[in-house]
Amino acid sequence: SRPTAKLGVALLGLGGYSTGRLAPGLQQTTHCELRGIVTGSPEKIPVWQERYGIPDANVYSYDTLDEIADNDAIDVVYIVTPPSLHARDAIRAAEAGKHVWCEKPMAMDEAECRSIIDAAEQNGVSLSIGYRLHHEPNTQTIIRYGREETYGAVTGVKTGAGFVGRFPDPTAWRRVGALGGGALYDMGVYPINAARYATGLEPVAVRGRQWSERMDLFGDVDEFTTFELEFPGGIVVPGETSFGETMNYLDIEAERGWYRLRPFMNYTGVGGETSDGTRLPPDPGHQQARQMDAEALAILEGRPPIAPGEEGLRDIRVVNAIQASSADDQAWIA
Ligand code: NDP
Repeated sequence: SRPTAKLGVALLGLGGYSTGRLAPGLQQTTHCELRGIVTGSPEKIPVWQERYGIPDANVYSYDTLDEIADNDAIDVVYIVTPPSLHARDAIRAAEAGKHVWCEKPMAMDEAECRSIIDAAEQNGVSLSIGYRLHHEPNTQTIIRYGREETYGAVTGVKTGAGFVGRFPDPTAWRRVGALGGGALYDMGVYPINAARYATGLEPVAVRGRQWSERMDLFGDVDEFTTFELEFPGGIVVPGETSFGETMNYLDIEAERGWYRLRPFMNYTGVGGETSDGTRLPPDPGHQQARQMDAEALAILEGRPPIAPGEEGLRDIRVVNAIQASSADDQAWIA
């Protein structure tokens, strides 16, 4: 029988993603309840308290976060701040004895990722990265095609994710390198992760190129990044990501056919087709609700997370290799 208890979740960082997707998604979960908030913006507190019935006792700021250790109503802290702040707050949540869900990109570099993983281990809490697509049914299907070689062994992958962004506020984190901005951190982890889950392999060499065209907007970060990931066995995956061009594809070639997801990374509408006419119609469910329920159930049943910290670290290792390769024009071994 399935556990009936619900995990109390506190969202940390009440920006666009928490407001638009995670809080509404939590209303659709079976195994979670939105019970707390952690915010640096006092004006958001009454709005969230009223909308979601959050009591004063479950409201924290970044200054009082450590006190969450004494609050039995909160089981999970979900880190939804700009990437450069993930490590700091994820470690504090783990040290407060709370399970940690952390948004992508996991952190700025491998060392930060490792420090989050270590903090979770040392404090005996679960750690999961917000890879919602690992819970998306069509994505799970194409991962299975690769693993079971439904169309033969995978021989090639092409993938890209981007949109035309402006972010008019010059302090918006997506425009600020020190906060973890740029297309590669924000969008690039999707094609990197997809190349890894489509092949089931880890890259052995990485080449990358990063640049900006609208320097007024993206003078401090990459507006465009292209890369090549070389996998064991010789598969070379071309990937691209962008704040200056719309793209959203994951195309896979195998020995006896092909399959693809277009779009492959949207909140809704992820779907595609295969070379033998199998349709992969979009799933109508709420992706983030599915993600949070699955990770909550893993915690409740004492299982490892579906998307563990190591999964986030492996993508950041590739991100850093792309950055290094772009900087010195060499291929970098991941
Ligand atoms: P926003 O800029 O909309 O919100 C970030 C929030 O973080 C702010 O509103 C603020 O909340 C808090 N914050 C704390 N310190 C700072 C700071 N120094 N500068 C800016 N904000 C700060 O970002 P998003 O919600 O779009 O993204 C947050 C995270 O979620 C990122 O890691 C992003 O990659 C990820 N994300 C994931 C998606 C997915 O599909 N998995 C989709 C979109 C985003 P407060 O005022 O409450 O303190």
